[in-house]
Amino acid sequence: MTSAESQDVQASEALLRSILATVPDAMVVIDTDGAIIDFSAAAERMFGYARADVLGRNVNILMPSPDRERHDGYIERYLNTGVPRIIGIGRITVGRRANGETFPMELSIGEARTDHSRVFTGFVRDLTERQQAEIRLKELQNELAHVSRISAMGTMASSLAHELNQPLTAVANYLEAARDLLAEPGVEDIAIVREALDDAARQSVRAGQIVRGLRDFIGRGDTEKRIESLGRLVSEANALALIGIREMDVDVDIQLDPQADRVLVDRVQVQQILVNLIRNALEAMTEGPKRLLTIRTRRISHDQVRVSVADSGSGIAPEIRERLFQPFLTTKDDGMGLGLSICQTILEAQGGSIWAEAAPEGGTIFSFTLDCGEME
Ligand code: ADP
Repeated sequence: MTSAESQDVQASEALLRSILATVPDAMVVIDTDGAIIDFSAAAERMFGYARADVLGRNVNILMPSPDRERHDGYIERYLNTGVPRIIGIGRITVGRRANGETFPMELSIGEARTDHSRVFTGFVRDLTERQQAEIRLKELQNELAHVSRISAMGTMASSLAHELNQPLTAVANYLEAARDLLAEPGVEDIAIVREALDDAARQSVRAGQIVRGLRDFIGRGDTEKRIESLGRLVSEANALALIGIREMDVDVDIQLDPQADRVLVDRVQVQQILVNLIRNALEAMTEGPKRLLTIRTRRISHDQVRVSVADSGSGIAPEIRERLFQPFLTTKDDGMGLGLSICQTILEAQGGSIWAEAAPEGGTIFSFTLDCGEME
């Protein structure tokens, strides 16, 4: 190398250093073995590690399970197949700080090659604050939808009472007339009684139709179904559910059936269900010594997939086991008892179902079914 060339190299290294010191997103550079070869100042702040302490270490220290164990395999698969799963795509996933805290993050990965080396650069954005704001927004939207539905139901209920009054009064009148006629029945009275009973029957059918109309109204949800990737919904919901749960060391095992990835769903609703179930699972494990959360997906028929969220927690309290999905039933001091009932309402409105069973090794498994949009 000439001295001019070496000066160039030094200058570009200095430039790189200053970029790494100032880039607002955390940046982590690794080699093809997964070893960290650079770590920006923002990465130091985000993950709580000093650059000097992580250089040369496997990047998997920045992830919780199951990515922690699987990351070497991810790189190896990419190097062998050349098929990117994340490079150039980016996704929301979970990071782990030096103190063990996990947090949702947006990760974009790029690849750089020189003649004799190949490196991967990861840009990480901490989503904790942004997602908290989004969740609050979503909560507000849900509350609003709920309130407007309740007031719509209130209006509906009073007009229903009014409408039902008519056929029910008519039924009462016909039946009373029939009873009076039967007190001393003449031959011709029998025909009139029959007619009165027919009219009473017709009016009660009409009352039934009005009630059914109300049920349809309540069941009608404004949903937008699209084809989505279930794996992606699961990992995003998992990241969302972890927000605000600090210093809780949970092993998360996600087992995705490749045959069950395509689902036809309203994405927000499925996330709402998953976040509810994952939060419940985490809450059930706060006291226990073993904390394992397992999320599994499985194709169970040509048009349905099953998703299960299993925990190693306390199990369902016996006194509520039979009425688990009833609204306002809770064993928690700060619980609302609405999570499971909302999950059930959402799923049943689209022909799905949800159920709970005791896990063989203790804890609980909640499972539900989703439509995968296959026609045959
Ligand atoms: P909330 O969480 O506000 O109490 P939910 O409807 O989500 O409302 O849950 C109702 C009750 O069901 C909880 O209070 C809890 O007793 C029980 N439960 C739900 N999920 C689990 C679980 N994974 N393990 C044990 N109990 C659970």
